[in-house]
Amino acid sequence: MASIQTTAGGMPVLILKEGTKESKGREAQKNNIAAAKLIAEIVKTSLGPRGMDKMLVDNLGDVTITNDGATILKEIDVQHPAAKMMVEVAKSVDNEVGDGTTSSVVFAGALLEKAEELINKDVHPSIIVDGYNASAEQALKLLEKIAVNVDVSDKDLLLRIARTSMDSKLVSEDSPLLGQIVVDATKQVAEKSDDGLKVDLDNIKVEKKAGGSMRDTKLIKGIVLDKEVVHAGMPKRIEKARIALINSALEIEKTEMSAEIRISDPHQMQMFLEEENRMLKAMVDKVKEAGANVLLCQKGIDDIAQHYLAKAGVLAVRRVKESDMTKMSRATGARIVNNLDDLTSKDLGSADLVEERKVETDKWVFIEGCKNPKAVTILVRGGSQRVVDEADRSLHDALMVMKDVLEKPAIVAGGGAPEAYIAGELRQWSSSQEGRAQLAVQKFADALDAIPLNLAENAGMDPIDTMTELRAKQSKGAKWTGVDARNTQVTDMFKQNVLEPVVVKQQIIKSATEVVSMILRIDDVIAATKSKMPAGPPGGMGGMGGMGGMGME
Ligand code: ADP
Ligand code: MG
Repeated sequence: MASIQTTAGGMPVLILKEGTKESKGREAQKNNIAAAKLIAEIVKTSLGPRGMDKMLVDNLGDVTITNDGATILKEIDVQHPAAKMMVEVAKSVDNEVGDGTTSSVVFAGALLEKAEELINKDVHPSIIVDGYNASAEQALKLLEKIAVNVDVSDKDLLLRIARTSMDSKLVSEDSPLLGQIVVDATKQVAEKSDDGLKVDLDNIKVEKKAGGSMRDTKLIKGIVLDKEVVHAGMPKRIEKARIALINSALEIEKTEMSAEIRISDPHQMQMFLEEENRMLKAMVDKVKEAGANVLLCQKGIDDIAQHYLAKAGVLAVRRVKESDMTKMSRATGARIVNNLDDLTSKDLGSADLVEERKVETDKWVFIEGCKNPKAVTILVRGGSQRVVDEADRSLHDALMVMKDVLEKPAIVAGGGAPEAYIAGELRQWSSSQEGRAQLAVQKFADALDAIPLNLAENAGMDPIDTMTELRAKQSKGAKWTGVDARNTQVTDMFKQNVLEPVVVKQQIIKSATEVVSMILRIDDVIAATKSKMPAGPPGGMGGMGGMGGMGME
């Protein structure tokens, strides 16, 4: 390829390694935009309550059925660098706010599509980028302005917000129950800080088990351990539990070096074993003296110690994960003790009930009925593994949404209402901009319309009629007018109880604009050939980025 070489005094100089592929200028831009748009194309039919689900099959044949933008993109193996950047948008939105992943990709795709129209009219990409960034800033301000503050003690309102995030998922039928669980769980673990509430979702343990129905999903005021009671002779149920959390082993420490003990006299052997026995019994006595009837140990428990614990009527579980120990401490109020010798009754936590129960074929230990626990468990049930997996993902979105509103209690209506409103405002504002920047602002507004437009399309509504009606109502000042995809009408989405945290909408705009700016600024793609890949056609761009399988050149 000519561009890999340059000439110095008539002599060709090779500056890139042989086999390196390069595409420049318009061509590079076109390739990137096409690849990124394709990603948006994949997820856009799954947007909203009437969006379709995707069935993804990995190379081991495992099937995932989902509607979640971030999950869809995580599961498909994207190779083109620009397409990868689109996957990153979904990831960043997922990390920051948890919901709105599909919207962010759809919006970014629309921004690129509109940018391409301008590029084709010879508007320079950097002008588009500037116009987009100015529009995004303006859009964020507008969102801040129209957002409605909420009272975080209004549980009914919180429930409606949680339900909105689940309404677009497989689990929507059960959203009244699941939504309630999400609200109760997040409120339970929320903590007051200087600036409002703080929610650490690490304090909500989600355990899932296929079987039963989604309606059996429960919030447990405590922790569920996927472990069984360590010894058959121990009680399987203890009411008014006094719980010790120990993170050292109830075993005799083996010496670091391999030592050999020579015993010549059977009497010595006897003494040796008795000594070991005595030490283990002393450990169990410590637990008894502290008054514990439940022992949860992060390390091992020796058989002999198990025997003494069983005799003392203590329910014990061993090899509990460290993360579960922390959660248990927050749920029961127990202090995690490193050294058994330090254990006192003050270190114990409490729970109304600790019980081993059968969950399908497994035996799990439930620590429940904790007083004001700062860590809780959601036990997800459902007809099959695929159903509980999707329920788990939907719960994740809803929990994040609840965290978002509790930490920043401001919401907007959904259904494309805020997007349509901002688009209208930006179109007016664009006249204050100069020359070509004006065009970019208008295109940004057009791209925002992609959200209500796709919601309508996915609901089988006529896109043109819907958008016309939406704009007409918006221009009369009805700013919460959006696409009610459930009842296929254009109406006030606040009244329809479709409510979302304003931070989700803000993050969608931020992340999408950011990645689109990055993609538009690229005018040169230099790609080393992958050593594993079969050599592409000589000089062609066919192998570059490896999007061939997805119809990309
Ligand atoms: P995302 O991953 O972007 O959250 P979703 O598939 O969850 O994608 O769809 C979210 C969009 O669906 C938001 O714009 C939201 O306002 C909208 N939405 C949710 N429920 C409804 C509804 N009942 N009617 C119309 N739009 C809705
Ligand atoms: Mg969503």
